[in-house]
Amino acid sequence: MKSYPLVVIGAGAAGLVIAIGAAKAGKKVLLIEKGPYGGDCTNFGCIPSKSLIASAHTAHAIKEAKKLGIGFPPLAFKAHDSLARVRHIVEEVRSHEDSGALVKMGIETLTGPAHFETAHTLRVNGEEIFGKRIVIATGSSPFIPSIKGLQETPFLTNESIFELNEIPESMAVIGGGPIGSELSQAFQRLGSQVSLIHSHDKLLNKEDPCAQTVIAKQFEEEGLSLCLGSGIQEISYHHDKFQIVLNKGQKIETRALLVSVGRRPNVSSLNLEAAGIQYSEKGIPIDAYGRTNQPHIWAVGDVIGAPFFTHWAENQARSVLTSLLLPFPFKKKIDRKQSIPRVTYTDPEVASVGLSEEEAAKSYNIATYHVPFSTVDRAITAGRTEGFIKIITKKWSSKILGCTIVGPRAGEMLGQITTAMHAKIPLRKLSSLIHPYPTYNQAIRKAADLWLTQTILSIFKRRKQ
Ligand SMILES: Cc1cc2nc3c(=O)[nH]c(=O)nc-3n(C[C@H](O)[C@H](O)[C@H](O)COP(=O)(O)OP(=O)(O)OC[C@H]3O[C@@H](n4cnc5c(N)ncnc54)[C@H](O)[C@@H]3O)c2cc1C
Repeated sequence: MKSYPLVVIGAGAAGLVIAIGAAKAGKKVLLIEKGPYGGDCTNFGCIPSKSLIASAHTAHAIKEAKKLGIGFPPLAFKAHDSLARVRHIVEEVRSHEDSGALVKMGIETLTGPAHFETAHTLRVNGEEIFGKRIVIATGSSPFIPSIKGLQETPFLTNESIFELNEIPESMAVIGGGPIGSELSQAFQRLGSQVSLIHSHDKLLNKEDPCAQTVIAKQFEEEGLSLCLGSGIQEISYHHDKFQIVLNKGQKIETRALLVSVGRRPNVSSLNLEAAGIQYSEKGIPIDAYGRTNQPHIWAVGDVIGAPFFTHWAENQARSVLTSLLLPFPFKKKIDRKQSIPRVTYTDPEVASVGLSEEEAAKSYNIATYHVPFSTVDRAITAGRTEGFIKIITKKWSSKILGCTIVGPRAGEMLGQITTAMHAKIPLRKLSSLIHPYPTYNQAIRKAADLWLTQTILSIFKRRKQ
């Protein structure tokens, strides 16, 4: 039996950070991966989706050129090559993370599915592996809802959609969360007629209501058909077409069907019982240092449960690395109190961090500062005034509790607010920060100015009384 001081299961965002970090520190490490190296983010998630969105963005910009004073004769375009481009970019990114590249970094790799046989032994392709310490970084998979008829159809998930060679003439997307929304808009812009079916009344139901409204309006303007608050009765597939019957009786006929209704941690194939590791379908519970109930086994990334983000998986992995490599005083806890920023890469983007207005109001006396982009010169010059920034603070101290930004560069803008929250900089201090003119970031200063004017006004009011 081969024996290793450290074995990592899963070569996705989390597992790679740990294996590469350990190898850089001179540790012997075995990395086991059952599928393509790089995990979901590189192969089926962030990289292919954002590559496709980049093509969709260009297609849309050409269609919208008239609004910026640029005339074309009516354009017809085919976007099939954008799918080949996606695969090319995935291959390029994966080439830095595949087995060959990892071996050059000093990591031993083994390709095949791993499962536990005891608390220290794993079986991979019939081979038994001993790990003194083991890290489970097996990620998550698409959740497939039980809808009558669905399993008998050739539906797509994020694991198969980027293999398409053609942009389907029509597509239904089940799920109006971040992945469903991003891909719906991208395929619509690339030439599909997209019907987006969502069981909630609002798209992106975890986001600020104003953000939901902007995105729904944008989608409708672009010609997406939104079926909100819609359950599905039945799905069937005949003569190369899906028939979807909604609970309300409405029928949708479409060439392709994407299911994106959430994620489930990959726990079931690991035989965790054999190692005595506690888990549920929501993931593997961990302590502050990322350890499972077995102190020599860690769990990191999507496998511990929501939220499912690459940056969160990597952040956890960096903390776990300190536990694996450094003596006690230098071991870093996973900072679960830190607000995890998130971005949905629709156009406009929706970026948020911290508490929503509703959540914050339950625990604090709050103030909300809302700046529409119709008052921001950069947005006016770009013809992108549909967005806004909303910052929620504690009422008097102006400590930032949460923020939502909707706009073309919302994800980049959010960094300033995340930094302020991390460094405990109150909103009022951002009023004196100088931003280059004209940038979207001036909206942040305007929000801070609102705090100043509102506070000064209320002080005057009090004095007068
Ligand atoms: C369409 C889509 C778009 C996304 N976009 C974003 C985004 O823009 N930003 C963002 O932050 N996040 C995004 N995500 C989420 C992000 O991809 C995940 O949060 C991230 O990949 C989690 O990393 P991980 O290492 O925990 O898991 P993964 O990257 O999934 O890696 C787990 C690896 O473990 C392997 N594995 C599983 N079981 C076994 C086993 N038994 N033996 C051996 N190997 C095993 C899997 O094959 C996989 O390679 C997106 C996800 C999807 C689906």
